Amino acid sequence: MSYQGHHDIVNTKLSDKQLRVNLKNVMDTLKTNRKNLIASRYTDWEELREKGKALKQKTLSRLDVLLERFEQNASKNGFIIHWASDSKEANEIIYSLMKEKGVTKILKGKSMASEETHLNAFLKQKGLDPIETDLGELIIQLIDEPPVHIVAPAIHKNRYQIGEIFAQKLGANLESEPEKLNEIARVHLRKEFQEFKMGLSGVNFAIADEGAIWLIENEGNGRMSTTASDIHIAICGIEKIVESFEDASILDALLVPSATGAAITCYNNIITSPRKEGELDGPKEVHIILLDNNRSTILKDSHFYKSLSCIRCGTCLNHCPVYDKIGGHAYLSTYPGPIGEVISPQLFGMKNYGHMVNLCSLCGRCSEVCPVKIPLAELIRDLRSEKVGQGRKNLKNNDGSLKDRQEQFGMTKFANLASNGSSWRRMLSLAAFFAPLAKPFASFIPGLKNWVAYRAFPELSGNLHKKVSKMQGVIYE
Ligand code: SF4
Repeated sequence: MSYQGHHDIVNTKLSDKQLRVNLKNVMDTLKTNRKNLIASRYTDWEELREKGKALKQKTLSRLDVLLERFEQNASKNGFIIHWASDSKEANEIIYSLMKEKGVTKILKGKSMASEETHLNAFLKQKGLDPIETDLGELIIQLIDEPPVHIVAPAIHKNRYQIGEIFAQKLGANLESEPEKLNEIARVHLRKEFQEFKMGLSGVNFAIADEGAIWLIENEGNGRMSTTASDIHIAICGIEKIVESFEDASILDALLVPSATGAAITCYNNIITSPRKEGELDGPKEVHIILLDNNRSTILKDSHFYKSLSCIRCGTCLNHCPVYDKIGGHAYLSTYPGPIGEVISPQLFGMKNYGHMVNLCSLCGRCSEVCPVKIPLAELIRDLRSEKVGQGRKNLKNNDGSLKDRQEQFGMTKFANLASNGSSWRRMLSLAAFFAPLAKPFASFIPGLKNWVAYRAFPELSGNLHKKVSKMQGVIYE
């Protein structure tokens, strides 16, 4: 994506007033709920974050051992384990299973891993029918859009817009009350649930010691998709492995408040085996797909591996002053916001996703709120170095060729000026002198044009350089 092309997309989102209102309303509610819950119920939140960070890092340092242990124990429990090195392999496994079982329809609980592999588009191309059952995912599937947020996929639409979508696409009465909208979705999905054979879900934690998977959700559609079908397929990024239930509970205690501002979710589905002999319900077959998709390469990097600690709570998106202005679609990736900026170039290649690392002011709010303490702002800054070929250069498809020549030229000149006291003072005097002249013409000057479109031209005092010299004098005395 060219710089200008992406810039135009961001501008379109910025000028969509309804989008900004919708995002702000939801982000404000999520942030307030999280803050109030943590203040009222958790005296040990910081301690819990430290524990979460430590256990994720410990788990990642022995992920190979834990993956094998998970495979062994899960197989003993009767699960069928598949390994997928990339999106294509994961999608092919699901396609083969559908063909083998003679099903044309698969009911999906929420799964960001399946968004990552673009499963829906793949299955549709094969003439098969993936049906989203999470309310947010259903809304965006009806209008053929990708998720705008990793936890709340349709927050860019308000209840009036959702009512219109249901009226147009499902032929429902025009409604705007949440209860009525829920009812429309429930009636629509109930018909699908009555006659399905195969369900698909994501995984929040895959527990190595037990060979079990843990899935959290709020709507009950996850439980339906995983228990009311004959065959359940769970797609799981390899970084979702944890060693024990105790570790999973610590991460769960961090994930839920961060994601929704609630202490627990309505449904906790802990799946330890397919249906056993004598049991009346539950799927007869459970397949677990362990998806790599470049995660093992990220794991090898002694710095960027930290990004695999993510538990996908989405709170870094909620607190990001860029995300809440432009929404997730402007990032052009399955994973938007701060965590998206960090993992997308690593998972899918810097060449196609390098534009994302510019969507950050490096304010650091994301790092402050991340429940597992991923240093997101630091990683974004370091990915910028990777992008222009000044980092360690071991990211997928990254040859450091995404240099912005204009920016590099400007930065080199700035570094020369800023590292020489007399040049710096001279530059400040000139800037103070020319600023009032440049101000009225700034919007016509290439290079300044885009900058002043959203910012006030700075006021430079005529004696600024004298003040700076004085300060330097004090510092050096
Ligand atoms: S990076 Fe941290 S805050 Fe962002 S989604 Fe992942 S766990 Fe949540």
